[in-house]
Amino acid sequence: MFGKSRQAAAPLALIGLLLLSGARADAQGTSSKGYIEMPKSEDGTYVLTHRPGSGRNWGTPAFVRFLVMVSREWKKRHPNGPILRIGDMSKPDGSNFPPHKTHKDGLTADLFTSPKNACHVRFPDQRLTLELAQLMVDLGARQILYNGDLVTKTIPIAKKWPKHDDHFHVVIDPSRVPSSGALLVLPEPGCRTGDWIGGGRVDEDGKGLILTWRVLGQAKLKSVRVQVDDADPSNGILHDSGKKRLRQPGYKLPLAVKTGQTLRWRVQVEVAGQEDLLESSWQTLQVDLRAPEVAGVSPRGKIDLRPGLRWSYDKDGVAQRRYWIELDKDPDHKRVWVKLGPFVGSATSAQLPAKLRLKRGKTYHWRVRVEGGHGNRAESDWIKFKTSSGYGKKKAPRGKGTPEATPTPPKGTVSAAALNLRKGPAVSHPVLTSLKRGTEVSILGERGGWLEVEARSGNKTWRGFVSAKYIRR
Ligand SMILES: [Zn+2]
Repeated sequence: MFGKSRQAAAPLALIGLLLLSGARADAQGTSSKGYIEMPKSEDGTYVLTHRPGSGRNWGTPAFVRFLVMVSREWKKRHPNGPILRIGDMSKPDGSNFPPHKTHKDGLTADLFTSPKNACHVRFPDQRLTLELAQLMVDLGARQILYNGDLVTKTIPIAKKWPKHDDHFHVVIDPSRVPSSGALLVLPEPGCRTGDWIGGGRVDEDGKGLILTWRVLGQAKLKSVRVQVDDADPSNGILHDSGKKRLRQPGYKLPLAVKTGQTLRWRVQVEVAGQEDLLESSWQTLQVDLRAPEVAGVSPRGKIDLRPGLRWSYDKDGVAQRRYWIELDKDPDHKRVWVKLGPFVGSATSAQLPAKLRLKRGKTYHWRVRVEGGHGNRAESDWIKFKTSSGYGKKKAPRGKGTPEATPTPPKGTVSAAALNLRKGPAVSHPVLTSLKRGTEVSILGERGGWLEVEARSGNKTWRGFVSAKYIRR
């Protein structure tokens, strides 16, 4: 759909998204279910209970638009009243969302108002509560659960339900959300205020940055115009695309960007049948194209035991965010033998999995690839080591020990009440055991949304795969 350069940039944009959303998403910020993340309000018409990236604020584009429409209309009617506060929606992949039984369809949210909660049975002015409920119905709600008498007696689709004294549980019918009016232009993750532009998103000369957005609501796009400046009004606009007939919501900036730069951008969209231009607010991005410095420390030379890997990572003020380990037998590294990761975190040591059997008296090569917090990547040189003829005869020391010995893999704990440990990285694989909440696991690898872990349960050590969402790291 996009040009060639878009394709090249996509995997790198993806990384930013994964980290922002804590979930798998494609380059346009859409989850496997087609959900998008509710953005922070730019006009102060609503607040989020859970921060972006918490994985709790996902819904269909129609639902996100519904929430923004309700919030804006409510604020317009009651400029000094409480504003809408959005609680749990769905998870990006529509998976179980305990303690909720629902909140999977991308069409559901728990709603409150802030600072005073008008969605409470003890809120003194239940006529205001009723007005909010009615507004939601007008804009597409098909179910409201709430225990206030006035609301449930007046609104046919509102029902009483246990534990719903202090919020509306709202489900919409997306076909009832008005298709006209309140169209929204929403910059995509990676292009929003507070995001960093790392080296992977531009070419060697700092060119090729792609700015992306999404239009919520049914609209026939006529033209777009992208404007960029450096947030210093005295410098004026740095770049103005002029009116462009773009079919796809992405614009490749013809300017080079450089480290230390602050870029501000916005997009204006012209829609058929509407006189006013839709316009995003200005988004402020920081540029940091500096790669981290990374070097392998150990093992090198001759080794007797299963090697713990250590490396050094250095970048001023920017922590390592992810890393990958590669191991090879071929000195040319044409086809790398083993690739592990990505692992999330700032650890600078890792243990090779026990099942990876190294032979005695053989030469191997390893390297680490890292990614810093601003999305810049680097890799160490390949380091050679050789297993001794007595390799593996002594047991590799476990747990703590000297730093040179065997650094331990990263740990996590189970955050679900009961988490299935499976033989492979998909729900189609058999369940080996169930891990209780709080169980500590060693994280050995990551595949898709799954972690390969080792954990103690029922006096046995198990090894298998668990869903990454339920491991707190
Ligand atoms: Zn609910």
